[in-house]
Amino acid sequence: MSAANFKLDVKADALQSELYQLLVCPRDKKELRFERTHLVCDSGHRYAVIEGIPILLVSEAEQTHIEGTRALGVAEFGDASQLPQFHVAANEIDPFVRNAIGATNGGLYAHLVGNLQEYPIPRLRLPAGAGRRFLEVGCNWGRWCIAAARAGYRPIGIDPSLKSIRAANRVGRQLGVNAGYVVADARFLPFRDETFDQVFSYSVLQHLSKENARASLSEIRRALRKGGNALIQMPNVFGARCLYHQARRGFRETRDFEVRYWRPAELLSTFTKQIGPSKLSVDGYFSLNVQPSDRHLLPPRYRAVVHASEALRWMSGKVPMLARVADSLYVSSSRTA
Ligand SMILES: [Zn+2]
Repeated sequence: MSAANFKLDVKADALQSELYQLLVCPRDKKELRFERTHLVCDSGHRYAVIEGIPILLVSEAEQTHIEGTRALGVAEFGDASQLPQFHVAANEIDPFVRNAIGATNGGLYAHLVGNLQEYPIPRLRLPAGAGRRFLEVGCNWGRWCIAAARAGYRPIGIDPSLKSIRAANRVGRQLGVNAGYVVADARFLPFRDETFDQVFSYSVLQHLSKENARASLSEIRRALRKGGNALIQMPNVFGARCLYHQARRGFRETRDFEVRYWRPAELLSTFTKQIGPSKLSVDGYFSLNVQPSDRHLLPPRYRAVVHASEALRWMSGKVPMLARVADSLYVSSSRTA
């Protein structure tokens, strides 16, 4: 693809072009320019653009997910024609989402693998977007970006997986959603300082080492406007289900992509230090990540779990101690001026 052709592609899509104006080099935050098939910064860092998707990963860093390593492999090879092509009918569920649903949405969705009849789009616990700029860190196929677009935000999603970002683009086109997607790493955000009003992340930073999570949080602060907010879901070390999972693996040190559990006080001090004043609220109990909006997709025994979780969440508003034993917490942090 020549640079001239590429610019035509970019012009064809207003948000995509807007997206490119926000991008900088993830290594040194310098300006990027097109050089044939790559984005290049003044220090000579080069990033392939595959099917219009910039691969803005830092190759010398240890990748946090195997799909990051795979995306770098495709970027080096530079040949999009080798990637599998999907032709998804208007009324069909994207095959990537059909297969990935158990991984992206959690164990209570495993029965839907290969059998999904609709896209489970969650409800965002945020005020209406009113055109504000939204970044999702670790978007996979884009369910929260779709929710954000429908709530009036201008969403951009990043993920280290090229497969996921290609799926997010397909699903976005299919549903007529205006969202931009980039292959990138939370620790090295490829965006200008103070770009976003709202940052959101769900079931993502829990998979990183605490050191990597802290690096991601300080990048999130940099990318947030002053007065902006980050809403980030994290697992609680004292949650009943979380304790069960930790016991099953003998409370040993975590590794690779396993879930890291955090103490509520540790979440508050870390997020306050890395982003700004923070507070906790309950996302749910007994699972990591089942969404009340997906109740109708679940078998009766899981619906009961959702029901109990929602009842406890409501009660946690009256009895703050209950928040301390929730399995899934939201940390809301503001970047102060
Ligand atoms: Zn650079």
